[in-house]
Amino acid sequence: MTPGAILDGPVCICVDKQSLSLDRPFTYLLPKELEAGVGSLVKVPFHGRDARGWVLGPTEDLPTRMLGVAKRMSPVRFFNEQMLEVLTWMSERYVAPLASVILRSHPPRVVSEEQAARSAPSPETAGRPDTKPLGGYRNGPVFLEALARGGEAVFVHRPAPGEGPSCAAEAVLACLANGRSALVLVPECEPLPATAAAVLEAVGDAGVLFAGGDKRHRYRTWLDIADGRYRCVVGTRPAVFSPVARLGLVWISRESHPGHREERSPHYHVREVALARARTEGATAVISAACPSAEAAVLDGVQVTPASRVWPPVEVVRPGPEGRAPRLLSVLRSTRGAFIFEPLRGYGVARVCRACAEPAACACCGGLLRLESGRVSCAVCGAAGRCANCGASDFGIRRGGRERVKEWLCRATVLPVRGSATPLEPPRRGEVMVGGPEAVKDFADPRLDLVAILDSDLAASRPGLASAERALGVWMEAASWAGHGGQVIVQSAEPGGAAIQALVAGNPERFHRHELLRREAAGFPAGFPVFKVCGGVGLALEIEGLSPVSLLSTSVGDEAIFLVTLRPEQVGAFGRIARSLAEKGLVTRVEAEPHL
Ligand SMILES: [Zn+2]
Ligand SMILES: [Zn+2]
Repeated sequence: MTPGAILDGPVCICVDKQSLSLDRPFTYLLPKELEAGVGSLVKVPFHGRDARGWVLGPTEDLPTRMLGVAKRMSPVRFFNEQMLEVLTWMSERYVAPLASVILRSHPPRVVSEEQAARSAPSPETAGRPDTKPLGGYRNGPVFLEALARGGEAVFVHRPAPGEGPSCAAEAVLACLANGRSALVLVPECEPLPATAAAVLEAVGDAGVLFAGGDKRHRYRTWLDIADGRYRCVVGTRPAVFSPVARLGLVWISRESHPGHREERSPHYHVREVALARARTEGATAVISAACPSAEAAVLDGVQVTPASRVWPPVEVVRPGPEGRAPRLLSVLRSTRGAFIFEPLRGYGVARVCRACAEPAACACCGGLLRLESGRVSCAVCGAAGRCANCGASDFGIRRGGRERVKEWLCRATVLPVRGSATPLEPPRRGEVMVGGPEAVKDFADPRLDLVAILDSDLAASRPGLASAERALGVWMEAASWAGHGGQVIVQSAEPGGAAIQALVAGNPERFHRHELLRREAAGFPAGFPVFKVCGGVGLALEIEGLSPVSLLSTSVGDEAIFLVTLRPEQVGAFGRIARSLAEKGLVTRVEAEPHL
């Protein structure tokens, strides 16, 4: 990141008040001798007190009375003009105070690190890829040419089984060879994803992992990135803000993974921020996933997909008792390595109280009672399992779940059977592993004989607008583990369902067509911003005035909660309304992209 000039004169400042009602720039006079400029952290007088703030840039918007900036608090520039453009876009897109967005864009300061010695810049040479799979992909040459040429472009990449890591490494090296920097964003970092490992190995000293570590290490790494020490940054969500210079490529690995959404305020999605950065800095953005999200499907991206079918054969069978379809049992007898996906935890759920014969329900909250690790407890509130009717704790159990699957697997195969443990280890040949969604990670290609998907029909009954899509994403990642000579068995009573058919085809395109229509019918078309707004009842009129795509409301006490879907071009107007109502105390909370 190249720091901007030293400013002298009136500047606008984002004061560190993380509130929508104060979310606007304030003008101060910045003396030249402070040696501050865009991105400098300064101290300013604000309503009679000292406040922190960041310099946004020179301004001609002069108030009648102008106070002076009191002090420069750090020699570090926390953003430059380009990054400020992205942060401002975020503040508008997510209706979040700019101060909160700025604070989220870098790790918390460790002041002593700012005085520490600077490290040497990155070596100019990067490694060579071991394999170059991209040339064999449909549109692969177009993609590689875009990287060599540089410039803004969006690609949607569906890797062939096992090729995600090598494709990412090849693309990053192509970008670095062009003299530009690359970001690789992974949804989680424990254990280290195969994609992260492959990229870091390929780029050697030019790359850094920006994820995990203590506060000091994180800040040190960020300062080193800002100093130009690295040309490739690999990391989780915060890495999307990495202050690399001359960004050429942003690669989003496993794009449909829920880990790419920030769950704390200000909420954001890495895909959207990455696309905004790529637009601002003229870089290539790549959305890579076995099954990209519906949001990715509506982007106008160039599809980079395997040129020929490299998907394992997928057999759909009717579910047997507790998932034991005869076909699965017969394949298990000869398998040399398998992963069995079961979405449910535990051993089973309580159906009926043995003391009073009433249907079982939690005495505290009425929730579902589950038998797990030998004890019955509430799946909702966690309380020990007692009957809501009589308080007894003896229940008739309907068996089903990973513990139960593990039990019957031990009789169905001669191989050792393993549940997914922490720290997570990949499935291996020579054993059968049982796991749920959390076991499906970016592991180096385990080349299994068999992947079985149990209880697939539950996905349709799960709450949440994107539940089917999320399930399909996990199934496809798991299925790809059987991508080299293995086979997939999926148990479903509805083999014609769009998600099951996408799994069979190894291609989510038809599923997405179906899904996009379904979302539109539900009032939440993919790619349209959704906000959850809490505040006074008077809010409704103001939001209705925008003619949103859809507006739902409920109220809790005297607070109203709205779920509003907007056309992308309405977000600016909506943000202005939300900020002005926040000043009047009529809006208490805005959450962008809530879980639906
Ligand atoms: Zn409960
Ligand atoms: Zn009872």
